Amino acid sequence: MQNDELSILATRVREAAQRLYPDIAAVRRHLHMHPELSYQEFRTTAFIKEYLAKLGIEPEPQLLETGVVAVLRGTGAPESKERKTVALRADIDALPLQEENSHDFCSTEAGCMHACGHDMHTAMLLGAASVLSDMKDELNGDVLLIFQPAEEKAPGGAKPMIDAGLLKRYQPSAIFAQHCFSSVQSGSVAMCKGGFMAAADELYITVHGQGGHASSPHKTRDPILASAHIITALQHLVSRVAPPHEPAVLSIASINGGHATNIIPGKVTMQGTMRTMNEELRSLLHERFEKTVKQVAEAFEVEADVEIRFGYPVLYNDPDMTDLAWEAAKEYLGDENVHPSAPLMTAEDFAYYLRECPGSFWQLGTGLADDKPGNLLHSPTFNPDEHSLETGVGMMSYLALRYLR
Ligand SMILES: [Zn+2]
Ligand SMILES: [Zn+2]
Repeated sequence: MQNDELSILATRVREAAQRLYPDIAAVRRHLHMHPELSYQEFRTTAFIKEYLAKLGIEPEPQLLETGVVAVLRGTGAPESKERKTVALRADIDALPLQEENSHDFCSTEAGCMHACGHDMHTAMLLGAASVLSDMKDELNGDVLLIFQPAEEKAPGGAKPMIDAGLLKRYQPSAIFAQHCFSSVQSGSVAMCKGGFMAAADELYITVHGQGGHASSPHKTRDPILASAHIITALQHLVSRVAPPHEPAVLSIASINGGHATNIIPGKVTMQGTMRTMNEELRSLLHERFEKTVKQVAEAFEVEADVEIRFGYPVLYNDPDMTDLAWEAAKEYLGDENVHPSAPLMTAEDFAYYLRECPGSFWQLGTGLADDKPGNLLHSPTFNPDEHSLETGVGMMSYLALRYLR
């Protein structure tokens, strides 16, 4: 009985998503042609509001300068204390990148491109708003629509929205979002329970020595030799401090110092990234990072300044909410289109919502078997399969309906 009811519901959503597909593809292309960088999404914000207005959905008071929050009220159940709100989130910003695709809806903004699929995310959440407003009578609660600005640039848009009272004001009891991935086949999704994406912190080191003639190194305090030892010593953090079963990455990705064959410089600067999947390990590695740099520097009689800039925290998918999303995905897409995903060492500011509210973040497949090699996130030739819009609109809509049942 219940299964029949769910399969009828899934069929209705599938049909609605299919009908809406041409419209959502056009929305996506419009957004793709007019990308805006983080914190500057003014036209995108206006576009979202206009689209929602056509659905009869009024935006809530502005929390930040850009971005949109709106509430879709379901009429499937009477008002009561137990009434629930489920939040769906899309990010709306683009990247500072010159598009190199050859399709006819390339970015019209020089040096700015939706190369992370946030145009897709925005279009799909608008699509879900449209599907769900047509199916209000099936919604046994409310849906909080979050169009978040500035995912791509630290400190990100999620944290300031939460700090401005987003979750306190609307009290969602679950939150969901999806991200395009060309490594997953279009028409399918991939999910991971628990730690799914990494905490990503920026590392900055400045080594101060004493410069001088390279023929008399004993009269200098060589920051280059010291830096080489610091980099080597830092590798023990992953191989000897982090437990072998805990993912961790430490990469020194930039080193600068000196400019001539016969001058030992006075200073070397280095930059890198640290990625962890566990907040305890994150703080332990921070502590040992600083200690290692300082103490190796001391052994070489140079001084080191260390700065660690905190990036987004670990993205933790709530096990129960991920089970629910997994079940809903199987009902909606079929067992063969729902796959387990390994944790990824990328970072996402959706992590901040998940620290306050249980939920799940999954990979929406946007890849095709015959994709060209450059079809990668953050690449100037990123080109997601648009048919995945239909999958994503349906998944968001069906999961919201399903959660509120
Ligand atoms: Zn990105
Ligand atoms: Zn992204």
